Amino acid sequence: MMRQYELVERVTRYDPDANEDLLNRAYVYAMKAHGNQKRESGEAYFNHPLEVAAILADMKLDDATIAAALLHDTVEDTGATTEEIGEKFGPEIAALVDGLTKIKQLDRVTREATQAENLRKLLLAMSKDVRVLLVKLADRLHNLRTLEHVKPEKRTRIAQETMDIYAPLAGRMGMQLVRDEMEDICFRILNPDANKTICDRLDRLHAESGDVIREIERALMKVFQDRGLNAQVFGREKRPYSIWRKMERKNLSLDQLSDIFGFRVIVDTLDDCYRALGMMHRAWRAVPGRFKDYISTPKQNDYRSLHTTVVGPHHMRVEMQIRTRIMHEIAERGVAAHALYKDTAEVKVAETGAREGAAESNAYRWLRHLMEVLQEGDSPKEFLEHTRLELFHDQVFCFTPKGQLIALPRGATPIDFAYALHTSIGDSCVGCRINGRHAPLVTTLNNGDEVEIIRSDAQVPPPAWEAIAKTGKAKAAIRRATRAAIRKQFAGLGREIVTKLLERHKLTYSDKQIAAAVPRLGHKNADDALAAVGKGDLSGTDILKALGIAVDEGDIKEARRRLAQKKPEKGGASAIPVRGVAAGMALKFHTATGAVPGERIVGIVTPGEGITIYPIFAQALEQFDSQPERWVDLAWGVAEEGQRFPARIHLNLVNEVGALAQVTQVIGEQGGNIDELQLVKREGVSDFFDLTILLEVFDNRHLNDIMNGLKAKPSVTQAVRVTG
Ligand code: MN
Repeated sequence: MMRQYELVERVTRYDPDANEDLLNRAYVYAMKAHGNQKRESGEAYFNHPLEVAAILADMKLDDATIAAALLHDTVEDTGATTEEIGEKFGPEIAALVDGLTKIKQLDRVTREATQAENLRKLLLAMSKDVRVLLVKLADRLHNLRTLEHVKPEKRTRIAQETMDIYAPLAGRMGMQLVRDEMEDICFRILNPDANKTICDRLDRLHAESGDVIREIERALMKVFQDRGLNAQVFGREKRPYSIWRKMERKNLSLDQLSDIFGFRVIVDTLDDCYRALGMMHRAWRAVPGRFKDYISTPKQNDYRSLHTTVVGPHHMRVEMQIRTRIMHEIAERGVAAHALYKDTAEVKVAETGAREGAAESNAYRWLRHLMEVLQEGDSPKEFLEHTRLELFHDQVFCFTPKGQLIALPRGATPIDFAYALHTSIGDSCVGCRINGRHAPLVTTLNNGDEVEIIRSDAQVPPPAWEAIAKTGKAKAAIRRATRAAIRKQFAGLGREIVTKLLERHKLTYSDKQIAAAVPRLGHKNADDALAAVGKGDLSGTDILKALGIAVDEGDIKEARRRLAQKKPEKGGASAIPVRGVAAGMALKFHTATGAVPGERIVGIVTPGEGITIYPIFAQALEQFDSQPERWVDLAWGVAEEGQRFPARIHLNLVNEVGALAQVTQVIGEQGGNIDELQLVKREGVSDFFDLTILLEVFDNRHLNDIMNGLKAKPSVTQAVRVTG
């Protein structure tokens, strides 16, 4: 295990200003936190964060990154908390460790190859600081290096996940060395047979042709030396994985594969690259179609080099990459190298020049942007500190409980999530759990949220959702569903109203007769006219009048009186007859006021709960002024016979014998029902007392009759509707 002073020394060697105290404290803290935890190999767990820190020290990263690497598993795997890390190491380190902890929580997500791209984006989006990703990649690399101690099944899973997600991510960040090592390890695990076949063939090739690499190296060096160019040549055999990929991609056998050797020519300046290229092409014949200039047109990840293949000594095809030292560092270390070289004039000139011609059409423009940011700070340390990745800031990525990844626009709600899964899931959505907890459907989703949709078949999406939803898909589906449901509801309701009126007159009319009469009212057919009645655009008596029936207002009063004399039915769970909401929506009254037919009402949507009905005069409505999307226009529908509604009234009474009896007597005589009676204390005044009563009445007129009866009593000084 690396000792404390060794790590600190490694860091101070490339950064003399590094905060040694910070590194020492992080080392000790992490070591104590992991205590005697063991890895699957049996070695001390602390060795893992230490090795991760060492990988990052090799990349010459700043002290905060190294400290975060030491601490990266403490919050997830030990008793440490982000708060404690913040207290001990400050907000910068705490933010890095917190970022790493959040990424780790993504492990429950299914790693299907089909969602790998979204997962990579999510990783980037969650890593607000580029250093979080660097530590994550180093963490994964060390886990791969020690993978032989892990059970075979888990080993395969980790290898596949690395191939799908982390290796490409490292590649896109330009970190070729990390990517190569990840791919090599994973290829050995995922495809051991292919790996062995290729390795065996390579061994045989060596035996047959001797040390070809050194020979070609020397030949190339001689060409440069003869022409006075300072250059270094490095030959290498291609890695089994890249050979295998090439065989697969080009459908070749190993024998057909000409270029299993690769050569790198490292020169001093950008101009030297082109000079070296010219020398090569003059000394040997260039293979047509193999020349690529990634200096004037860099790759997406800012890789720059000249590529060419020549027919070299012994008529062997020699593939080479020509680049400067800095281009080489950037090619191998990517983002991490920029921290070291960003001051260099060559990088600036080369990159600015190159960028002008480069098309910005790639999906990873962010990386280019990052490279630009890299050049603005004063020191590598400052650069890393201020590189906050603002990636995919217009999207959020959330998961189903089964780990399916759903990409949504920023600001999306669980309603959008439900519709993104399937229209039928959105239509039947009644509530949700976010990360296991019940949450309102208006909640704005965050990256990495796990969202579970609660459904009910009786549900029809309330119109108010249209304003809450963010995605066009959800909005359109809500509009469609509510339009259909409400129209159907209105037509049914209108039919009910008209039928009841006709019954009262002991008459029946067919749709045909109604249809014949409605043109007078400006409607095309019976359904249209009935829907208008349901909506309240027409009254039921309008239809009767159109049918030529004389309507006597006295009849209506008589009917109500008969109703009032009926015993109130307790426990009859009649649906609240309200129009303007889709069927199946949970409805309830605002308890402080109640509401009765005849009073103007509005609904307030509480996502996941339903709609609360308020009389328009309720003061409690003020609190929803700033949330117009929660308001729903409601109107009363047709009540069932004898159905009662709550209304809370407030009385002021003279404090005398029999006052209360007078009140209950009036209410009883009028057929009202007392549901709840509360005495309101009044300090220091004994001549009067206050009561609130929750009444159950048929409608507004019934309520007014009771109130007028109460006001007529000598003991009652005031009787008003509660407006709370
Ligand atoms: Mn780890």
